[in-house]
Amino acid sequence: MNYKRVIIIGAGASGYFSAIRIKELNPAIEVVLLEKTAKTLAKLRISGGGRCNVTHDCRSNSILLTQYPRGRSFLKKVFKRFSVSHTIDWFLANGVALKTEEDGRMFPTTNSSETVAEALEFRARKLGVVLRLLSSVVTIIPLSKDGFYAWQVNCNRGTNEMANAVVLAIGGFPKEAQYNMIKQLNINIIKPVPSLFTFNISDEYLHEMHGLSVIDARIKLQGFDETYNGPLLITHWGISGPAVLKTSAWGARWMNEKHYTTTVFVSWLNKTEDEMRTFLQNAIILNTKKMLVNLYLEGIPRRLWEFIIFRAGVLGSKISCELSKYEFNKIIENLLRMPFEIEGKTSFKEEFVTAGGIDLAEINPETMEIRKHPGLFATGEILDIDGITGGYNFQAAWSTAAIVSESIAKINDRA
Ligand SMILES: Cc1cc2nc3c(=O)[nH]c(=O)nc-3n(C[C@H](O)[C@H](O)[C@H](O)COP(=O)(O)OP(=O)(O)OC[C@H]3O[C@@H](n4cnc5c(N)ncnc54)[C@H](O)[C@@H]3O)c2cc1C
Repeated sequence: MNYKRVIIIGAGASGYFSAIRIKELNPAIEVVLLEKTAKTLAKLRISGGGRCNVTHDCRSNSILLTQYPRGRSFLKKVFKRFSVSHTIDWFLANGVALKTEEDGRMFPTTNSSETVAEALEFRARKLGVVLRLLSSVVTIIPLSKDGFYAWQVNCNRGTNEMANAVVLAIGGFPKEAQYNMIKQLNINIIKPVPSLFTFNISDEYLHEMHGLSVIDARIKLQGFDETYNGPLLITHWGISGPAVLKTSAWGARWMNEKHYTTTVFVSWLNKTEDEMRTFLQNAIILNTKKMLVNLYLEGIPRRLWEFIIFRAGVLGSKISCELSKYEFNKIIENLLRMPFEIEGKTSFKEEFVTAGGIDLAEINPETMEIRKHPGLFATGEILDIDGITGGYNFQAAWSTAAIVSESIAKINDRA
C-alpha cells in the first residue's frame, strides 16, 4: 500500500518544507500539518533579525560540514542529496531570490523574512497541504501492522488524526521533559543544551567599552582544548560576536557541564606569540618618543589599548622606548591572553539553537526514518544536529526535510 495520508507535526521551517516537497513529488498523498500555536513559521519570521538567514553561500559540502559542531557525519550523506545550491534554486523557483553578504550569509533580496514565510505558505496552500493550527500533539501511537493506518496522533484538545506516516518536525527544546512524547516511543534523546550564546562577564571596566569591537580576536576557554577566532564585540554585559558564538557552539555541552562559569582568555588579535611580540616591538620602534597610550596598534581601538595597558599595570604616560622587559611582557600577556571570568550566558539577539535531541543513531540518513519505527520520520532541529550561526541551521532543516519528503513520496507497497 502507498502512503495515502501523512501527518507532519510542527509548522516551522522543516515541517513546511517537508509538506511542500511531499506534495511536489507526489500530489496524491494527503498531507496534514499540525501546529500547536496559532502562528506558522514563528521562528523563521524573527530569524536573522527579521531578515531570515536562509542559508550560507558555501557550495563545497566538505567545507559546509565543518560548520556543524554536532551531526557532521550524518549530514555528509544528507548534503550529498540536498545542499546549498538546491536551497538557492528552490527558493528562486518559488519567487525568493537570495543575495550573499560579505561574510557568506544569504538573505532574501527583500531583506524580509516575511518574503520567505509567505513563499512557503503560498506554495503549501497551492499544493493543498491541510494546515491545522492550535493542534498540539501530545501522544503518537503506533497501530497494529494489519490496519490501514500505521499511526494515531493525539492532540491536546482531544482530537486525533490517523496516518500512514508521521513526520516529527517540532524543533528544539532546551528542557528534556519536552521530549516525553518521543521518549514514550523508546527513542533515545541526547540531553538538550543551548548553543549560540554570549558570555556574561561582570567587569565594569570591560562594560565601559561596550559597543567596541575587534575584527579578528581569538578565544580560549580554560580547560577546553580548541580556540576560535573571528570578530568580537564588547557588550554591556560581557562579550559577544562570531568568535564568542562559535566558542559557545563548539563548547555547548562542555560549558553546560561547567554551569557556564569558567575563565575565558581573549587574544585581541589572532596572532601567535612571536607575531604579537614583533607587532608591538615595531609599533614602539616607529614611535619611540610617544607616550605608550598614544601608540597606534592596527586592529586595536584606542580605548581598548588603554584598557590593555591598565590591565598590564603599566602607566600610559610612560615613554614607549622606556618600557622595561617586564612591562613589555605584561602587555604581551594581556594582548594575547587577557583572562575574564564567565558568570553565565545570554541569548544572542534571542537567537539560539538546541544542541542535542533525537539521537542520530536512531535514524537512517538515507530516509530520515526512525529505524525502530518504520513510517515515523524526523527533520530539523529536533535532531541532534546544530550549526554555528550563519544560516547553517536552516540549511540542515531544508536538507533533512527534503530527504524525508523524497522517502515518503517514493515509498510504495508498504503497509
Ligand atoms: C531568534 C532566532 C533566530 C534564528 N535565526 C537563524 C538564522 O538566521 N539562520 C539559521 O540558520 N538559523 C536561525 N535560527 C535557528 C532556526 O530558526 C532553527 O534552527 C529552525 O527554525 C529549525 O526549524 P524546525 O522546523 O526544525 O523548528 P521550528 O522552526 O522551531 O518549528 C517547530 C514547530 O513545531 C511546533 N511544535 C512544537 N511542538 C509541537 C507539538 N507537540 N505539536 C504541534 N506542533 C508543535 C512549534 O510551535 C514550531 O512551530 C534562529 C533561531 C532563533 C530562535
